[in-house]
Amino acid sequence: MTQSFVIIGDGISGSSAAETLREEAPDADITVITDEGETLYNRILIKEFAKGKLPEAPISIHDESWYDERDVELRLNTLVTNIDPDAHTIETHAGDALHYDKLLVATGGTPTQLPVRNSDAEGIHHFWTFQDARKIREDAEKADTGVVVGAGLLGIDLAAICGAQDVEAHYLMRGNAWWRYALSKEGAEIIHDALRERNVTPVFESGVDRFEVDDDGRVAGAVDPNGERYDADFAGVAIGLNFNTEILQGTGVKTDNGVVVDQYMKTNVDDIYAAGDLTRFYDTILGEYAQNGSWGSAKEQGSIAAKNMVDPESAEFRWVSSYSITHFDFPFLSFGHPTIGDDECEMKYSDTEWRRLAFKGGKIVGGVLIGDLAPQSAYKKLMRDERVVADQKDVLLEKKFDPDELAPAQEQ
Ligand SMILES: Cc1cc2nc3c(=O)[nH]c(=O)nc-3n(C[C@H](O)[C@H](O)[C@H](O)COP(=O)(O)OP(=O)(O)OC[C@H]3O[C@@H](n4cnc5c(N)ncnc54)[C@H](O)[C@@H]3O)c2cc1C
Repeated sequence: MTQSFVIIGDGISGSSAAETLREEAPDADITVITDEGETLYNRILIKEFAKGKLPEAPISIHDESWYDERDVELRLNTLVTNIDPDAHTIETHAGDALHYDKLLVATGGTPTQLPVRNSDAEGIHHFWTFQDARKIREDAEKADTGVVVGAGLLGIDLAAICGAQDVEAHYLMRGNAWWRYALSKEGAEIIHDALRERNVTPVFESGVDRFEVDDDGRVAGAVDPNGERYDADFAGVAIGLNFNTEILQGTGVKTDNGVVVDQYMKTNVDDIYAAGDLTRFYDTILGEYAQNGSWGSAKEQGSIAAKNMVDPESAEFRWVSSYSITHFDFPFLSFGHPTIGDDECEMKYSDTEWRRLAFKGGKIVGGVLIGDLAPQSAYKKLMRDERVVADQKDVLLEKKFDPDELAPAQEQ
């Protein structure tokens, strides 16, 4: 009997699963279903499109012939609305039912709306899809003033888009620094300065209490909880993601702010797997459940899930993720889980060079590098190897870090 694999979502995790499935199961039926109207594109690059720095073409990764060549059935503009694990079927918005032997849920997330007055006004943008990027570009090109909310990795993209599009913007942050769970104030100051150079002014201990609109219902300004008003004919909101798990309701699949999967990307329900941003996966390096929203990790999870869908427990997800920001004159990279841990160390080397490492139980669990990314591979290897190194912070923070200078690894 020909096996049938169904993948919900054609982001990088779903698409990478389709590619691996075809390699591992040459004769299987493979279907990829997406509610978007276009095939896989590079979500990482849509910000460069919105800045006006890239045309559309290089952002696309697959065209429809990619699916044809691999004999993968692709259904665009198709929303999956229901999963029946007993019948092994999924249902689409059009009422079609489709049988699966193995199912992969790779549906990612949807940006969270700000629960404030007028947050759905024209000119207020969330950022996830290529369609969002097209609208952001169109509006940012016309705008003079802007506000951005959300002091994280997506918020800074919106702030950089304002900078690149000559929108004089205020970046309203709840705390005292950008991405304050991963960077100290000193490290974040490097980012704040780079934003100021682009005419984007960070505002701390702020946020949005309400948006104001003009007579046509377009955004005109934002008022923060301190009562300060900022002019804005453009607004960008990036305060987090809601994972697209509604279709799992009633299936018995365990969720815990994300779909819970083991290191094989398998859920607790037979024949249902999940991959990508929406998973809460068992991280074999940390020895606990973790989450990660990054391109490389989603791609690897898709591929690992596919291998296990064909041959159960044949491949394990073991991965140190990285996420880089390329908006400034200096490089920026975070790796692993820089927002967790019970210990840390950091060092500033110059106005544009800074480093921080996070430790848990003496082992590196993540870090942030600004200015000089040279030590990233050595740090990531120490993390993967689960070496206890927190007692050697001086060596770790040397400007030219050399792992050979660390005391030999102890038997653990
Ligand atoms: C603007 C932006 C910049 C980014 N920059 C970086 C970066 O620099 N580095 C980095 O590592 N990561 C970056 N990321 C994050 C990275 O893009 C994501 O981690 C990755 O794309 C997640 O892939 P995924 O396959 O898990 O989910 P997604 O890419 O979200 O794909 C899920 C797909 O499933 C579809 N879907 C959802 N529900 C249904 C349904 N019921 N039926 C059918 N289809 C459905 C969705 O429409 C979507 O197409 C960025 C993300 C954004 C938005």
